[in-house]
Formats: sequence, C-alpha cells, structure tokens
Amino acid sequence: MARQNIFFTAGPAELYPKFETFLQEAVDLQLGSISHRSGQFKKIYQHTDEQLRALMNIPADRAIMFTGSASEIWEKIVLSCVEHESFHLVNGSFSEKFYKYALSLNKHAQKMAKPLGEGFSYQETEVPEYAELVCITQNETSTGVQMREPDIHKLKRSHGSKLFAVDMVSSAPNPELDFSLIDTAFFSVQKAFGLPAGLGVWIANEACLEKAVSLKEKGISIGAHHDLPTLWKESRNYQNPATPNVFGIYLLGKVAEDMNKTGIARIRKETEEKAKRIYKFFEKQEGYAVSVTNPDHRSKTVAVINTEGPSSEIIGKLKEKNLIIGSGYGPKKDTQIRISNFPANTPEQIETLINTIENI
Ligand SMILES: *Cc1c(COP(=O)(O)O)cnc(C)c1O
Repeated sequence: MARQNIFFTAGPAELYPKFETFLQEAVDLQLGSISHRSGQFKKIYQHTDEQLRALMNIPADRAIMFTGSASEIWEKIVLSCVEHESFHLVNGSFSEKFYKYALSLNKHAQKMAKPLGEGFSYQETEVPEYAELVCITQNETSTGVQMREPDIHKLKRSHGSKLFAVDMVSSAPNPELDFSLIDTAFFSVQKAFGLPAGLGVWIANEACLEKAVSLKEKGISIGAHHDLPTLWKESRNYQNPATPNVFGIYLLGKVAEDMNKTGIARIRKETEEKAKRIYKFFEKQEGYAVSVTNPDHRSKTVAVINTEGPSSEIIGKLKEKNLIIGSGYGPKKDTQIRISNFPANTPEQIETLINTIENI
C-alpha cells in the first residue's frame, strides 16, 4: 500500500523509502520472537554496529550502545561524566532540557544561553574553568539552529581535558563529526534515519568509561539502570544488558547499510542542496521569513520559517494535500513552521512541497 501522506516533520518523520521492505524482512525472520542472547541477535547487533561505524566514521575503540530514546542518554551522560560541574550551550528547548537534566541530578550545571534563532561559534564561547563536561546540541530541533562541526572541533581542541558531548539527534548521520576527537555523541532513530521511535544510539569513548568507573569507585551514583560500564561491557560482545528493541536495531542496520550503498558523501551533498533550495525559496516567498538570520547557523536538516499569519493556516492547507509539516516549537508554535530535510525527504518531495506552497 502506498503511503498517503508525506511527512516533513522533525520526528517522528517520513519513514525511510525502503522501510516497508526492511520491516517485512524483520517479520519474515520472526525477529519479534528470537532470543536476545542468541547468535542470530548478536549478528544483527554486529551488523548494525559495523554499518554505523562505516557510515559515520566511528573508530573501533568507541562503543556503540543502544537505549530506549535519546533523552535517556542525556541523563546517562551526566551521571557518567560529571562529578560536580557541567557546561551547556543552550539555544532552544532541547539544549535547555539537557541542562535541566544536569540540574535535576544535583550537578552544578552552568549554561551559556542565546536568544531563540541564534547559534554559537567557537570564538565567543567561553567554557568555565571547572566544567568537567561540555554539552553541545549540534542541531537544535526547536529553533532550526546548528553548530558547525569545525566550531565544535576547535572548542574541544582548546579544552582537551574536558569531556565533550554532542547531541546530534535530529541531524545524524549528516554532521561530519570527528569521532576521534569528540568523547560522546548520540541520536535516536525517528529523526534523520526515518524509522519508528523507540531506539537511542549512544557512542562513547574510553575517557567517558574511565570517568564513570572513577566516579563509582568514589561512591558517587552513576545510575542503576544500564550504567555506562555495564552497557559498554555488553556492547563489546554485541549484547545488551536487558531485552533490547531487536526490531529497531535490525531496521537501523538495514537503513545504515542502504545509506552506505548510496554513500555518505552523496547523502550530505543532497542534504546541502535541498537545504539551499528550501532556504532560497522562503527568503523570496511573500509572507515568510527564514528564522535563523546567520546562514552559517541554519540547520541543514530542520528548517524553521517565520510566518506572517498564524502558522496553523498553512499547516492546515498543506494537510488537505497530504503534506504534513511541523508547527513552531513551544513559544513559537503559532508563528513558525518547521520543515524536515532528512534523507527520506527526497528532492522530488521537497519540490512538491515548495510548488504547493507557491500556489496556495
Ligand atoms: C528529539 C530530540 C531529542 C529527544 O529524543 P528522544 O528520542 O525523543 O528522547 C533530543 N535532542 C534533540 C536535539 C532532539 O531533536
């Protein structure tokens, strides 16, 4: 059955084009019933692990671990990597939540905050001296603001002894993040990987593991549910401490494999071209304005556009034509629209959306 609607929402999002095929394979393999301790499952985990490493250039000494969601990883990173103090670059709802998780865990969390629609660059970012962990949201989904990879890398290089965590939930695998430099990063699958929600992916290096172990030895809680040393150890054997989302792990492996066949360079180029097309269109289109004024800080995967009238009008009119776009986030709900530009959003779909908006 063909899909009725096309989703340009930032997650859950349009499903990957071959999703139905991969799902049918998972059903045929009876993956809902196999043991997560079986050799068959280990092979599935290993395949997904290998495809992600190839796709995102993740070194062999990094662990790739699975959780239920990405927000769960915010908590795990703070528990594993912070004794006293964390530092957060905050410019929207998701980066703010990461910061608040650290406060809730009784850490001395500090933030550098920017108005909605603005981003961070390397030069202006001052990291507090005693921060043990620096938390960056590479793609702030609520505002459509990105932090460029070279700025993230420079910041880490100039604060080499601090651990760096990068939330790449709504952009992975697009950012060219240097995983030999960044200590930990994470994403979930219902954004740019075009899969149903329910799986978080956590990449971490040995420095994070060592920090977690040292905190535990000091008697500081690093959490009870799947703490980093436990997840790490199991992942090295392609296992999970409890029964994981086997379907999700299988499907992610298939999507990553398919993306590798296309090639990450081509996916990035196409993403860049589609993003340019979207921003160029809304810069010219009457009644709309691109929310992020600095072109360097415009997200490549989630475009946020200001609307002159209430955003619900255009959202409703597009819905009648089976085109589903997102509203603004939080305080911007009624004055902005958000449009995803994920690999599953083909150039043809983007053209359809643009032509439809032009003719409304
Ligand atoms: C969606 C999102 C999250 C939360 O992911 P979940 O899988 O829903 O927990 C975190 N950070 C960013 C930037 C997001 O877009």
